Amino acid sequence: VSNWDQDDIKFLSHADVRIIDHMGSDLAIANAARVSVIGDGVFKIEDREGKDKGLVNYLMKHRHGTPFEHNSMTFFVKAPIFVFREFHRHRVGFSYNEMSGRYSELHPEFYIPGPERGWVQAGTPARPKLVKGDPDAHGIIVQSMERSYKVAWREYQNMLAIGVAKEVARDVLPVGIYSQMYVTCNARSLMAFLSLRTQYEDSTFPSYPLYEIETVADQMESHAEKLFPWTMEAFNNNGRVAP
Ligand SMILES: Cc1cc2nc3c(=O)[nH]c(=O)nc-3n(C[C@H](O)[C@H](O)[C@H](O)COP(=O)(O)OP(=O)(O)OC[C@H]3O[C@@H](n4cnc5c(N)ncnc54)[C@H](O)[C@@H]3O)c2cc1C
Repeated sequence: VSNWDQDDIKFLSHADVRIIDHMGSDLAIANAARVSVIGDGVFKIEDREGKDKGLVNYLMKHRHGTPFEHNSMTFFVKAPIFVFREFHRHRVGFSYNEMSGRYSELHPEFYIPGPERGWVQAGTPARPKLVKGDPDAHGIIVQSMERSYKVAWREYQNMLAIGVAKEVARDVLPVGIYSQMYVTCNARSLMAFLSLRTQYEDSTFPSYPLYEIETVADQMESHAEKLFPWTMEAFNNNGRVAP
């Protein structure tokens, strides 16, 4: 009935992000902009004299956003469901396919914040700042979470064992359980996501995202930097404002 026992429970503290597929380049972004003035002349450009990188920066600076849409990146993301709830709010230029708790048994993997993640609020609602509190409190967080995850998993397994459908039994599982998805976006939609889900005090519009979604965003940004280095450099040089 079940693929797992109670002993198979894993407690994890990190999100996993992998690049699965991609299309396009910084040069394609520059050419998408050039087509508006030189049409099929873009196919004849031979000596660019380093102008492409400058053009990408110009587009970013002046928020000419559409040339950044002619590309795509597909990521595999494994993270707790509470991260996915925030992620899926990004509607424009994003495609998602997520593991189903109706058709498959969820995996016994649960999130426990690591000791580096702050757990006491020392900021304001508008400017949250999570800091570490009493070191003993981290042990209590870990114990509380492990205890309640184990109970939830056991009840899930008990219901599956008597033939309750997965889509009903899963109702007891918490938002700290891991899920998995494919996400496809383009450079423009990724930058919109990064501008909100990463924290840089010197960006034009600083954002204060949840720590766990920021760890996902950081990993996605590292992949994008390898695929679109001029674009990501221009994004950083222009206040991390999505064009
Ligand atoms: C720090 C932080 C705290 C948050 N707190 C909360 C919260 O407490 N409660 C909550 O519900 N959400 C919260 N959110 C989620 C937030 O409200 C957005 O849903 C999320 O950031 C996605 O942003 P978006 O709508 O710009 O993205 P997308 O949906 O990808 O949209 C991208 C852009 O397209 C345009 N657009 C998209 N849809 C429309 C539309 N229907 N009409 C007009 N223009 C559109 C807008 O310009 C938008 O910026 C929070 C987000 C952050 C970063």
